[in-house]
Amino acid sequence: MGGSDRNHSLAEFAPAGAKKTESLFGRNSFLPENPAIAASVEAFARGAQRRCDPDRPGARRSGSGSKISNFHTHTIYCDGKDTPRELAEEALRLGCPALGFSGHSYTAYDPDCCMSPEGTAAYRREVLALREEYAGKLDIRLGLEQDYYSELPREEYDYLIGSVHAVKKNGEYVIVDWSRDMLLKGVEKLYGGDIYAFAEDYFRLVGDLWERTRCRIVGHFDLLTKFNEDGTLLDETHPRYLRAAGEALDRLLEAPVLFEINTGAMARGYRTMPYPGSVLRRAIARKGGTFILSSDCHRKEQLLYGLADQLNQPYERVEEAP
Ligand SMILES: [Zn+2]
Ligand SMILES: [Zn+2]
Repeated sequence: MGGSDRNHSLAEFAPAGAKKTESLFGRNSFLPENPAIAASVEAFARGAQRRCDPDRPGARRSGSGSKISNFHTHTIYCDGKDTPRELAEEALRLGCPALGFSGHSYTAYDPDCCMSPEGTAAYRREVLALREEYAGKLDIRLGLEQDYYSELPREEYDYLIGSVHAVKKNGEYVIVDWSRDMLLKGVEKLYGGDIYAFAEDYFRLVGDLWERTRCRIVGHFDLLTKFNEDGTLLDETHPRYLRAAGEALDRLLEAPVLFEINTGAMARGYRTMPYPGSVLRRAIARKGGTFILSSDCHRKEQLLYGLADQLNQPYERVEEAP
């Protein structure tokens, strides 16, 4: 894929602590000054490269022992079903080298699915304690799924996933992924039923994710297609849709971010394909984006849901779309 140029440049990654490098992915001049953060950027980028290289030894194996790690994991502190320890044990059982936790940041517009401010403090304590306890067995990372509208965290995290779950319009929020009905009602009320105007606003926020959050990973790039499995919500090849998505993509390609191949909606029965959809996935690959596999796990039985299969997909191939 076009991304191979960028991946090759990872070998030239500057030593931790360097202020400027040729680039992280080949054309960015960004490198965090904090050596610890720089090191985690490097580890992430290398990990993503390994996980997405279908030619690497063992890449085509599936099931336990597949050596895949997941960095998008929810727990009982937000809308997940399991404790951090239960998830860590499952990761060990599956032979994962690493496990990243990414609780939902607190959002005032939808307090039910996210961590409360007090819950966030407890989540941090528990994951940090596990990180020490499991050191040498499992590389645990403390992350956060940072919603676009959440306040930026004051505490340090190993990484952030930047995600747009709602679009604010005229002082009201349209929640993107709650239900098809709720989404359509919001679009009707605030956009006069123009789903592409909504998509343009959605992708404007997505394109701004790195600027706003300094996220390492862009979460579910086209979450607004969650209820579009049958194609009746919107046309994912519509020129307005592709233009909006393409502009977001172009902005994010200037930042040191990884794009998720996210199987979360497959695990929960909403979709048969991961985010992003095939047209946008090919566009990201063709333009040189780097992918990371994410299960967006909400229950431990689905910690690596569908990820091994994704390694068999020909992401490196350049196709003529969009
Ligand atoms: Zn999310
Ligand atoms: Zn999530």
